[in-house]
Amino acid sequence: MLLEELKKILDIQELDMKMIRLMRVKKERVKELTQLEELRKDLYSQITDKEQEIKDFDKSIELLEQKIHDINARIKKLETQQSNVKKADEFNALTQEMTHAERERLAVEQKVSDLVDRKVSEEELLDKIKESLKNSEESSLALEKEIRQSVDLINQEGSTIKEKREQLAGLANSEILRIYERLLHNKKDRVVVPIENRTCSGCHITLTAQHENLVRKGDNLFFCEHCSRIHYWQDSESTEGTAVATKRRRRRA
Ligand SMILES: [Zn+2]
Repeated sequence: MLLEELKKILDIQELDMKMIRLMRVKKERVKELTQLEELRKDLYSQITDKEQEIKDFDKSIELLEQKIHDINARIKKLETQQSNVKKADEFNALTQEMTHAERERLAVEQKVSDLVDRKVSEEELLDKIKESLKNSEESSLALEKEIRQSVDLINQEGSTIKEKREQLAGLANSEILRIYERLLHNKKDRVVVPIENRTCSGCHITLTAQHENLVRKGDNLFFCEHCSRIHYWQDSESTEGTAVATKRRRRRA
């Protein structure tokens, strides 16, 4: 009898609904996990960048210090030269050159001091980033563990549902099952639905009396002409004991 076959599909449908809900929850949880991991990855890359910046400062400072060293050597040379000259104009020219070199040195020293200041503030920033990485690792560790556990549970529940479904599917009419699965794939919602008060309980559009009569007879599969769902006639006797009946009772209570 067709209704008997549809009842098997209804049980499969309840399992499929559970599975859809479960997979939605899993997706959410996995997303949370990814966000936590991305936050940490971002902090790691900030640290790497800062460390590189500080290294670059060190390199620039080193180069400038070499330059100061060169200028000092030049000044020393000029001093030696100056102590050997006799003519006043040569002496003055060397003095001028030395003043010029000293000014140059002063400018380089100023640059070094600026770079050192900037390096120190970058190092302070680096410490802060490291601190927040440490904090986020500590606080998210417990959360991540909890999420992983819940994903494990979801997977376990998922395979139990899958097993049950395979058993039920083995007993169902394969033609009806195929049609049901195609509809489910499109709607991701219940697709075998009862007629209630001459209304499709899937799309809530009123049906004709003729359609209702045909479904009630139950000689054939009938589809909602508005939403394509499969209709079945439910009287209290025939659905007793099925998931739908239980749900209806629960809803009434
Ligand atoms: Zn409908």
